[in-house]
Amino acid sequence: MTDTRIPLPLTRSRSEEIFPVLTPEQHRRVAERGHMRVTRSGEVLVEQGDSTVPFFLVVSGEIEILRPLGSAETLVAVFGPGQFTGEVNMLSGRRALFRIRVAQPGELIEVDRREMQAMMQNDAELGEIIMRAFILRRVELIAAGMGDAVLVGSNHSADTLRTKEFLMRNGYPYSYIDLERDSDVQNLLDTFHIAASEIPVVIFRGQLVLRNPTNRQVAEALGFNEAVDQRRVRDLIIVGAGPSGLAAAVYGASEGLDVLVLEASSPGGQAGSSSRIENYLGFPTGISGQELAARAYSQAQKFGTEILIVNATHLACDRKPYVVELENGARVPGRAILIATGAEYRRTLLENLSRFEGVGVYYGATFVEAQLCGGDEVVVVGGGNSAGQAAVFLAQTATRVHMLVRSAGLAESMSRYLIRRIEETPTIVLRPHTEIVSLEGGDHLESVRWRNSQTGETEEHKISHAFIMTGAVPNTRWLEGCLALDTKEFIKTGPDLSPEDLSAAHWPLSRPPYLLETSVPTVFAAGDVRSGSLKRVASAVGEGSAAVSFVHQVLRE
Ligand SMILES: Cc1cc2nc3c(=O)[nH]c(=O)nc-3n(C[C@H](O)[C@H](O)[C@H](O)COP(=O)(O)OP(=O)(O)OC[C@H]3O[C@@H](n4cnc5c(N)ncnc54)[C@H](O)[C@@H]3O)c2cc1C
Repeated sequence: MTDTRIPLPLTRSRSEEIFPVLTPEQHRRVAERGHMRVTRSGEVLVEQGDSTVPFFLVVSGEIEILRPLGSAETLVAVFGPGQFTGEVNMLSGRRALFRIRVAQPGELIEVDRREMQAMMQNDAELGEIIMRAFILRRVELIAAGMGDAVLVGSNHSADTLRTKEFLMRNGYPYSYIDLERDSDVQNLLDTFHIAASEIPVVIFRGQLVLRNPTNRQVAEALGFNEAVDQRRVRDLIIVGAGPSGLAAAVYGASEGLDVLVLEASSPGGQAGSSSRIENYLGFPTGISGQELAARAYSQAQKFGTEILIVNATHLACDRKPYVVELENGARVPGRAILIATGAEYRRTLLENLSRFEGVGVYYGATFVEAQLCGGDEVVVVGGGNSAGQAAVFLAQTATRVHMLVRSAGLAESMSRYLIRRIEETPTIVLRPHTEIVSLEGGDHLESVRWRNSQTGETEEHKISHAFIMTGAVPNTRWLEGCLALDTKEFIKTGPDLSPEDLSAAHWPLSRPPYLLETSVPTVFAAGDVRSGSLKRVASAVGEGSAAVSFVHQVLRE
């Protein structure tokens, strides 16, 4: 077996935080949670893909973390006395990304995952050291493209972009090989008998090959949804892991509730697709939506929340406990339910829009899309804050950003700080009273035609990237008439529910619905999906956390 001995490229200044050495006192507290284990040289403690992965603290000797690939191994890290193993998969209970093997015999303290989680929750000092190390290790793995998955694709393929985004937004480390750019890709394709027409292809642990998989297939293969206990009645099931769902998960789990979160795509929701959120309290220099989501996701898991990446397809709300049905056929019962499914951009702007989705038409402007359009002209459609952020972000790499708005200007729809930023960015051209009238191209968007509604003039531009950021619609279709909705299909709650709504829903209680309670008792709604909500990260977070206090009340009733 060859050993390429390529260590994890570390940010030198942070290596003490990534690989901390515990003090004898901290060591003693870990020992109280686990048991001593004597190790032999070459002993494999954990194999890549193992589902039960304990936490190890090295007492003496040395252990190494290795990424197996075929008959070769890549050295990821080496741990000596006082150092511990693990990264964020340990919080979620997902499968091991790497092999752990003893390099020098000695002794370890072995702590099982549940005990390790209890230790993180109850010992603030150790909890902080371990959590920081886990998160930073994952960040390094993502930056180094080092995990158990390899994505082979092309930058001209919408499905490659979809898969990249799915892995990136779920914080999953993977290596990317581009069909057009990487010279030895043919060898890899031949090894796995893959035709170039089958891309994107995802290869897991050097064995399992998925050809143009759906996000759901990738989630299943990565073990995102393993071991869900369908018989356990949860205190709270949260549908949607945007800011409101994640806030509810953190508050609920930290206050002792048994919480399950169901997320159709990736944690973070709309906020996760934001390049920089600058008006969220506590982040004076702004924070990317992806980073905010990743932090909240780890925080929720630290307190024991279980999170599945699966679409909720139905809510059976006619009898208690309510049951949420999932697209993989599972049914999960809950004593209280929080609907936090948010909203998404309208996709029906133009007839052939969907043809170019992912190959020129995008609904989010993250690092992944920005990489595709560096050095090109782009169009951003919309006059709200999300469009403004996208324009400012893309202007850093694009040669020109045409911002198309239907109205006379931005003053009514956008925050003042963004308007100022747009005015100060010479490469952003604001085009008021303007709408896209057609999109043209072959297998990728090639040109965009727009029209000024005041002058009637149309212009065609050779532009191959259009960002559509116009009004959002609520994700409530899956509820199929279970809850009272307003005329735009947002969920009505609390005082917004009229006596007619309550009588149509056969409201059975003598008390009226609580503030965030829907027309069905103990089913709550929070964030953008709720009628009358403010459509801001802070308000979604506030509503998600407030919903938990009502959940405590209904569970006591
Ligand atoms: C590009 C962009 C930039 C923005 N910038 C800012 C900003 O700077 N400041 C600010 O305050 N606000 C900003 N916003 C608005 C802010 O992101 C939203 O108000 C906030 O994300 C709403 O949170 P939420 O949890 O209610 O819903 P969402 O963020 O919409 O999350 C809902 C989640 O539910 C999931 N879901 C939907 N249906 C199902 C289902 N059936 N089963 C399971 N899961 C489901 C979705 O996949 C999603 O992850 C921005 C929005 C966008 C799009």
